[in-house]
Amino acid sequence: MSFQNPVFIPGPTNMPEAVRQACYMPTIDHRSPVFGKILNPCLDGVRRVLKSETARVFVFPSTGTGGWETALTNTLSPGDKVLAARNGMFSHRWIDMCQRHGLDVQIVETPWGQGLPANRYEEILTSDRGHEIKVVLATHNETATGVKSDIAAVRRALDAAGHPALLFVDGVSSIASMDFRMDEWGVDVAVTGSQKGFMLPAGLAIVGFSEKAMAAVETAKLPRTFFDVRDMGRGYANNAFPYTPPVGLMNGLKLSLQMLQDEGLDNVFARHTRIATGVRRAVEAWGLELCAVSPEVYSDTVSAIRTPEGFDATRIVTHAASAYGMAFGVGLGEVAGKVFRIGHLGMLTDALMLSGLATAEMVMKDLGLDIKLGSGVAAAQDFYRHGSGTAKQAAA
Ligand SMILES: *Cc1c(COP(=O)(O)O)cnc(C)c1O
Repeated sequence: MSFQNPVFIPGPTNMPEAVRQACYMPTIDHRSPVFGKILNPCLDGVRRVLKSETARVFVFPSTGTGGWETALTNTLSPGDKVLAARNGMFSHRWIDMCQRHGLDVQIVETPWGQGLPANRYEEILTSDRGHEIKVVLATHNETATGVKSDIAAVRRALDAAGHPALLFVDGVSSIASMDFRMDEWGVDVAVTGSQKGFMLPAGLAIVGFSEKAMAAVETAKLPRTFFDVRDMGRGYANNAFPYTPPVGLMNGLKLSLQMLQDEGLDNVFARHTRIATGVRRAVEAWGLELCAVSPEVYSDTVSAIRTPEGFDATRIVTHAASAYGMAFGVGLGEVAGKVFRIGHLGMLTDALMLSGLATAEMVMKDLGLDIKLGSGVAAAQDFYRHGSGTAKQAAA
């Protein structure tokens, strides 16, 4: 594996050199005011990325999975009912976590490749007259299938049913790369991690809690210690953690938040849309199809690409790594061996993306797929180039 090539896995993502340097900190006293100068800009910056005025932001030494656990254990009690759709490996794992915590999950099975069925949510919530469902789970961007869901539509489903359940959103592979509107969408807990849109190593669970979610913390009975947001909140009041904080990672987060703000969130999202559109043009030129079933669910952070029937898609990933030192993502769960994934989130540029597409073409040709070298690259170039701007205008 080459350390010079960018990675094209959907997380961890490539790190800007300045962010990497920022993580490389000398030891400081994490109970001194120096730490507050790292902590507080992180909390404020995350709140801005979540587009929330009032959310309480908590950062734990963990990963996105720990963020799921933070959401569940702080707000729910054993036996509580949760509504969730399963449309990929990540929604599946969150459901599995609920079950292991003794929660009663009503699962809406949804074909992999489709978005969350907001209409089904509305029907189920409407018929739940006793308001037994305490939480609705929604995976904003299903990283296994490259499918984005409409969280505003899930909020509308809750409102149309007049249902008071909390709305928890897994934004691990969307937040800081795709538009996310915690307040506007009425999200009660937003979950993410450090190693995707925030361009950091893995190691931080990042969550935002609404006031309503904070109120639920007071009555929730699931056991929690490490992930107790009350302990964490008390720590923050003293510019500290209840335990030792990962200072270097947080210093990196402070810088990555600053970089996102300097570029402008809307520009960050537009860059992801542009890069993703180029990838989709390439996929089309290759004569292949996405796992995502229709344009409104196409993800701007990851594309899961179906390979022809009978071809083991995992071979693409293995061969890319061994022959070209380049990383793509394998298919997971139900789509293992059927898709390979190109991650296109984080610090990528058009030029970096072209290198990934060019390598994918060599790999597929080496493995005997009917791919014309340069075809996908040319389609993406035509979209990325600045000359006439026609391709860009067409997409705008
Ligand atoms: C990566 C990812 C996770 C898991 O995050 P970890 O940091 O690996 O624990 C959860 N949900 C989604 C949508 C993801 O992409």
